[in-house]
Amino acid sequence: MKKQFAIIGLGRFGGSICRALNEQGLEVLAIDTSEEKVNEFASVATHAVIADATEEMTLKSLGIRNFDHVVVAIGDNIQSSILTTLMLVEQGVNHITVKAQNDYHEKVLNKIGAHKVVHPERDMGVRIAHNVVSKNVLDYLELSNEYSIVELEAGKLVDKRSLTDLDLRLKYGCNVMAIKREDDVNVSPAPDDILLEGDIIIVVGADSDINRMEEALFDDN
Ligand code: ATP
Repeated sequence: MKKQFAIIGLGRFGGSICRALNEQGLEVLAIDTSEEKVNEFASVATHAVIADATEEMTLKSLGIRNFDHVVVAIGDNIQSSILTTLMLVEQGVNHITVKAQNDYHEKVLNKIGAHKVVHPERDMGVRIAHNVVSKNVLDYLELSNEYSIVELEAGKLVDKRSLTDLDLRLKYGCNVMAIKREDDVNVSPAPDDILLEGDIIIVVGADSDINRMEEALFDDN
């Protein structure tokens, strides 16, 4: 059976999740208190309903506990976001993702049992900052306070050099997880695989080690 998703709050964040799920052909229930928003998403979502998600009976009558994943994308109204999340937890929804407005909001959401709390503006800010600092860093995923996965573009300094030759693991403590060359992705590359200018390499390591490696070998454009 197809997975079923519910999105509560159809602002820019909730709305874009709704559109992306719809584009993947997935079943989406879109919920908002605003009639205007619900009308806007009537043709995007599988079902779109005007409802106040802070009302327990409303959530029950929508059968919210049967959805595989519910996203709470209520914006500025932190109280409504917390109350809605609490009721989803109480009703036993399997996966609840909630957008947090600030660190205090995030703390409360984690405390009351949200399964995943996202902070899109902050997280995107961090990712963009890495890209601004070095244009060879194409993308960045924080694994913890210390470790990350980064996508780097290979330049002249590593062109036609093998992974053994570059010795990234010993010199910089970084592991190359994959090499992308146009449409080909080489997952877990071999030591004698060669990098070419323009390749995208995906590396995991400590932030300080990645920075050292990036400055020494990838900052040549
Ligand atoms: P962004 O547009 O960047 O996502 P935002 O996160 O601040 O901004 P809003 O634009 O505030 O989001 O959108 C939140 C949506 O949530 C609004 O469309 C609002 O009508 C809806 N909403 C607010 N409270 C409830 C509620 N109790 N039940 C259902 N929907 C709600």
